Order: sequence, then structure tokens, then C-alpha cells
Amino acid sequence: MTEAGSTKTALVTGGSRGLGRAMAIRLAASGHRIVVNYSRNPQAASEVVDLIREGGGEATALGADVADEDEVVRLFEQAGKAFGPVTILVNNAGITRDNLLLRMSATEFDEVINTNLRSAFLCTRTALRAMLKARWGRVISISSVAGLVGNPGQANYASSKAGLIGFSKAVAKEVGSRGITVNVVAPGYIETDLTEVLDDQVKDRAINSITLGRFGRPEEVADAVDFLASDSASYITGQVLSVDGGLAL
Ligand code: NDP
Repeated sequence: MTEAGSTKTALVTGGSRGLGRAMAIRLAASGHRIVVNYSRNPQAASEVVDLIREGGGEATALGADVADEDEVVRLFEQAGKAFGPVTILVNNAGITRDNLLLRMSATEFDEVINTNLRSAFLCTRTALRAMLKARWGRVISISSVAGLVGNPGQANYASSKAGLIGFSKAVAKEVGSRGITVNVVAPGYIETDLTEVLDDQVKDRAINSITLGRFGRPEEVADAVDFLASDSASYITGQVLSVDGGLAL
């Protein structure tokens, strides 16, 4: 719980799988009403909703491509109708389309920028109205260690994740006087579908460069998000919190 009686509506983009799923479950355990956004897989989203409800929480699943302006407007309208204004927004939805730069198509570049960065712009802009009215809000965007130190084959992904950091710092300065904080969580290698596809050699090399010597669990990222969403983090804004086991040290 953030505080007795301080239940908020939290929307997690891409809340149906991986890190987003863990964040949705964690924020629900903190007493918030959860909107689980997904793009293509309603089944996975309704499993998360069922889990939250079984635990005594409130949740609903809403499909929307968060890179699409009209779909984002509709998403927030539907969320508001279901649970009231969204005052905790987690910009988590993300994809990869890895390729070395010389082979990277403009489509691969655009898809990643649109899904990972444009989505945060669209969702944050839409969510801010209600947060400004409430004079309280939390925006948390999920970047990546790749956005801090780069990664070969991920010029598109690293750009989108570094972009989220600049975006968040600018917006933090715009809305700080209104009780709204804007922060970034930068995970390292976490066990999800996104990292499941890496071949064993790449995984072994990654583990060797992680100070804590292992991949992280989605719950470990979710705990950081839950903290930044809470009243305990009321004096933290414009920050990047690495949850990477010391990978970027
Ligand atoms: P997953 O691939 O496991 O899940 C991605 C989620 O995003 C799914 O719920 C998916 O929904 C949703 N999604 C994808 N595209 C869209 C879209 N256009 N609109 C709405 N939802 C969409 O990813 P992870 O959980 O691993 O990653 C989550 C975030 O964390 C990403 O931003 C990623 O870049 C970041 N991250 C992950 C790391 C890791 O090691 N896993 C490390 C660093 C950062 P659906 O299934 O319906 O398409």
C-alpha cells in the first residue's frame, strides 16, 4: 500500500507478459486498480487480470497499439470509464528488431522507435491531463542498459531507450511543480521472452559481465517500479534507476 486509502489507477503498457506482467501484479499488491494493456495477445492479458482478481485486486485488460495515436486516446478513455483517471503510468511496452546498422532497414528502425519511444510520448501526453487535475502523478518509463551504454546490433533499440531518458528528464522539469514525478527504470538482462531467444553463448557472455553473476527476475524490476510509484518516492524525479545487477558499472 502506498498509504491507507491511496488506491490509484495504474496503467501498464505491455502489461500482459514479461516485466509488465510482474509490474501489474506488484502494483495490484500495493492496492492499485490495474489496467493491463496488450497489443496482440488477449489471452495473456486476461491471465494477468485473473491472477490479480484471485488475489483480491481490481484489474481489467485493454488492447491497444500504444504506437498509434487514436488507439492511445481510446485506451485512456476506456481506462477512465473502467477505473477513473490514470495517475500512475508505466511506459513498458517494447520490442526489438536487432540488426547491424548497415543491414538495418528503415522499417526496423521506425517500428522500434514507434513502439518504444513514440508510445511513451503519446501515453504520457494523454495521461498528464488527469494527473495535472489531480495534482499528483507518477510516470515511469522502462529504458534499458542498452540506452545507457549501447549494444551492437541495437542502434534502433538503444536510440529508443536513450530517447526515453531525455524525454523523461524534459517532462519531469515541465510538471515537477504540479506534484507529478517522471522517472526511468533501466533494467539489464532479465529473464523474459525477450531474452529467452538469446543463444547460450550470448547468455554466458552476458552473465560473465554482470556483477551479481546472474540474470534478474521480472519481480526485481517490478519492485523498483512499485517504489517509484509510491509516496515513498515523492522527492525523486528525473532519475534513471538501473536494475541490472551491476552490469553497467
Ligand atoms: P516481452 O516481449 O516479454 O513483452 C512485451 C510486452 O509489450 C507484451 O505485453 C506485448 O503485448 C507488449 N507490446 C508490444 N508491442 C506493443 C504495442 N505496440 N502496444 C501495446 N503493447 C505492446 O518484453 P519484456 O517484458 O522483456 O520487456 C518489457 C520492457 O522492458 C520493454 O520495454 C523492454 O525493452 C524492456 N527491457 C527488457 C529487458 C529484458 O531483459 N527483458 C532488459 C531491458 C529492458 P502482446 O504480447 O499483446 O504483443
